[in-house]
Amino acid sequence: MAVRSASLMKDAVAVFDRLDVQHPNAWTELHFTNPYELLAATILAAQCTDARVNQVTPALFKKYPAPAQLARADVAQLETMIHPTGFFRVKAKSLIGMANAVVDEHGGEVPSDMDALVALSGVGRKTANVVRGHAFNLPGFPVDRHVLRVATRIGLVSAKAGEDAVKAETRLMALLPPDRWTRASDTLILHGRRICKPKPLCDRCSIWTSCAYYRRQ
Ligand code: SF4
Repeated sequence: MAVRSASLMKDAVAVFDRLDVQHPNAWTELHFTNPYELLAATILAAQCTDARVNQVTPALFKKYPAPAQLARADVAQLETMIHPTGFFRVKAKSLIGMANAVVDEHGGEVPSDMDALVALSGVGRKTANVVRGHAFNLPGFPVDRHVLRVATRIGLVSAKAGEDAVKAETRLMALLPPDRWTRASDTLILHGRRICKPKPLCDRCSIWTSCAYYRRQ
């Protein structure tokens, strides 16, 4: 079993080595300068493109430069500012709830601990991993719908695990060393957006020889 695991890990490392070449400098496309900004931007990015979030956040962070200001935000004004990102009522509630908890329970500083992050309003494991990996340089493997789709197609996770983001996250973490997790997630996201789209462009893919989906075609 240990030999098989080592072999699977070696294969996965080789796959991500090739994907890294195809998508150099893969990283979150959300603009931020500190953990608070990335946390707020990631909450806004639910069901919205990163590009649209980046259009909204400069004014948002100017008006609410830290959790202390966001915690006291006027709900109607905040909703108007974030309206272009969709689901603005839910997101405004999440942002204000998150900011209040950061102020009341963490002295105004966004925590880096996974349990503390997921206890914040509007923050699930994916968002927590985005913040840990990109703002704190801590190991985190964010799993979104692109990651699930692409990892399942390649065969890195089984179709069954691919239906469950937490199972897929655990599986993917086991395949790579922790210092590669965040970049691997960003790479799968980019691959899913550019190449392994719902209708995949396999003739432009650098890993087709290792892809379970391609072999089945
Ligand atoms: S070979 Fe096709 S299905 Fe497989 S990862 Fe590449 S683009 Fe996606």
